[in-house]
Amino acid sequence: MTKVCILGATGSIGRQALEVCREMGYSVEGVTANSDYEGLAAICKEYKPRFAAIADRDKSEKFKDLVQGTVTFCGSEGLLECIRKSNADITVNGIVGSAGILPTIESMKISKRVALANKESLVAAGKLIMKTAVERGVELIPVDSEHSAIFQCLEGNRNNEIDEIYLTASGGPFREFSSEQLKGVTREMALEHPNWVMGSKITIDSATMMNKGLEVIEARWLFDVDYRKIKVLVHPQSIVHSMVGFQDGSIIAQLGAPDMRVPIQYSLTYPKRMCNNFRKLDIYKLGELNFQAPDMKIFRCLGLAYEAGMEGNSMPCVMNAANEEAVRAFLSGYITFTDIPVIIEKVMDMHNPVEADSIEMILEQDRLARRRTHKIIKEDLN
Ligand code: NAD
Ligand code: MG
Repeated sequence: MTKVCILGATGSIGRQALEVCREMGYSVEGVTANSDYEGLAAICKEYKPRFAAIADRDKSEKFKDLVQGTVTFCGSEGLLECIRKSNADITVNGIVGSAGILPTIESMKISKRVALANKESLVAAGKLIMKTAVERGVELIPVDSEHSAIFQCLEGNRNNEIDEIYLTASGGPFREFSSEQLKGVTREMALEHPNWVMGSKITIDSATMMNKGLEVIEARWLFDVDYRKIKVLVHPQSIVHSMVGFQDGSIIAQLGAPDMRVPIQYSLTYPKRMCNNFRKLDIYKLGELNFQAPDMKIFRCLGLAYEAGMEGNSMPCVMNAANEEAVRAFLSGYITFTDIPVIIEKVMDMHNPVEADSIEMILEQDRLARRRTHKIIKEDLN
């Protein structure tokens, strides 16, 4: 039986991954979460994993009290221990943010396959992660719907040069907003995504289009393509999950209902496609599919991500950390929606990129950028 460890099990990706494991008859060996000890304890009761870890140490005792028959760990080191002890064939990383970097690296030492939803790992530490995957012979299978689509479009085409990758984007809830209108965006407005129900951080990233920016960098590493070949295409229906153009002029696309369980399932069962009871696309009822270029002036975050990616070295890591902190500040009501790109740009302007090949260096740059972001937010508030 395939053994799976699910990191970020209480989150949107984590819960859907649990559901898929149950459907596929896979055994859930390990589960982790940040601070939702009650949610994680309920998961332990239902799925009976052998190991579980809660990253927030303050919740450790309360968590232990609720769990029976599962060995528990706590703290970020406990989370890594849970990965090791689970010794799973596949680890799914559904942690949000750069907190997922170390777990991604640890998973690659243990599992033959890592199903990666945590795009921030690749943004901040893409070079190191791809190198580790090659050295250890680990399959890194994307969970992100666009990257799963590209991965599928490349099946049977791995030796053909990619001409262009078309990364589709719903455009988020403010797709047709002007710069002026964006100024009036509230937290509640930004948390309403038209096509997907996701965690709060990625929902805000989708509204600013930073999510697509992070995905451009994610695609650069996963598929080893130059940034100039990665094009973003606004496609409001979220039916075409992405496309790949080849030198002969053919463009291959992957289509499906917007349901994350499909790419999660594929990351677990690849190269097999398995039956499921998820809603299928009714191609006769689709109607129009539209595609247009994004407005990078209005959605500045997307432009910033391209700039950070092309600059390379530690810049994407710094941009990612600044974004995480700016989004946190927006969700807490300290800054406005349109402050987010302004703050990220200031942090990027202050940063002199350094080589970021080691995990220590990456984590150090991540910490430094967060401190700078806090300082800028405080100064701007005064
Ligand atoms: P979420 O907020 O719903 O869940 C995040 C999970 O990570 C939770 O289980 C939480 O406990 C855990 N976590 C948070 N901080 C942590 C920390 N410091 N240490 C350890 N664990 C921590 O987020 P989500 O929407 O499931 O997204 C998870 C990742 O998947 C993100 O990188 C996101 O960009 C990516 N992703 C999500 C979707 C989606 O549909 N939700 C789609 C594509 C990609
Ligand atoms: Mg995506």
